[in-house]
Amino acid sequence: MRPWILSELNYSHVRDQAPFDVAVLPLGATEPHNLHLPYGTDTIQVEAVAERACALAYERGARVVALPAIPFGTETNMMRFPLTMNLQPTTVARIITDLVDSLETHKIQKCVLLNGHGGNDLKWVLRELNLKTTVHLFLCNWYRVGADHHAEIFTKVGDHADELETSMILHLAPNLVELQKADPGTEAISRFDAVRHGWVQITRPWHLATTNTGVGDPRPATAQKGAALFELVVGRISDFLVDLAHSPIDEHFPY
Ligand SMILES: [Zn+2]
Repeated sequence: MRPWILSELNYSHVRDQAPFDVAVLPLGATEPHNLHLPYGTDTIQVEAVAERACALAYERGARVVALPAIPFGTETNMMRFPLTMNLQPTTVARIITDLVDSLETHKIQKCVLLNGHGGNDLKWVLRELNLKTTVHLFLCNWYRVGADHHAEIFTKVGDHADELETSMILHLAPNLVELQKADPGTEAISRFDAVRHGWVQITRPWHLATTNTGVGDPRPATAQKGAALFELVVGRISDFLVDLAHSPIDEHFPY
């Protein structure tokens, strides 16, 4: 039993220990990742990051708990691919709202939404809940945490099922990678100049934007690169969790 992972704890342990200071809610997805990575890629990654970051924080005296990962996310632009499992954005928000309400009932006042899926757009949920809960919410997209070091670790980071994600799964679950099947991850370019330059946004139709859902060439991926990013990311997130757990909620919090 790892005492920072709720799904492994028993009631006697939870009952006898003082309330946790911080809960971490990992958000994953169920969707194809090019031809070579599992549908659970986002969930595998975010759950591993949550568990390891909480472990490191717990070892340093922070009362943190990792909640079970939500294995589904928003996929409205990827539904042409079989067995992609979609939750509408409002459904994701509703799930988060109910779980935050649960945390409030159990007197946990700090919650980190640890997101592992690019299709989840969650900032608006924080804004929506801001006046409706006493729980302080923090949003972390784990794949951005080490972005300042991506160029040192990787040849070229793409966007989906790329060298980064492939390296992570080679590190975390190598038996689930069939790298010899990977397609090069070439993304089609919009006919509109404004969209190409990014000052007009769309939600990309992935069956038109990609060949097999990948964006970014996965073939230079290695487990060593995945380990390097993983250690960087969990180190940074655990530092934050320790700070957050020990920080009193006064009238200026979080400033
Ligand atoms: Zn992914």
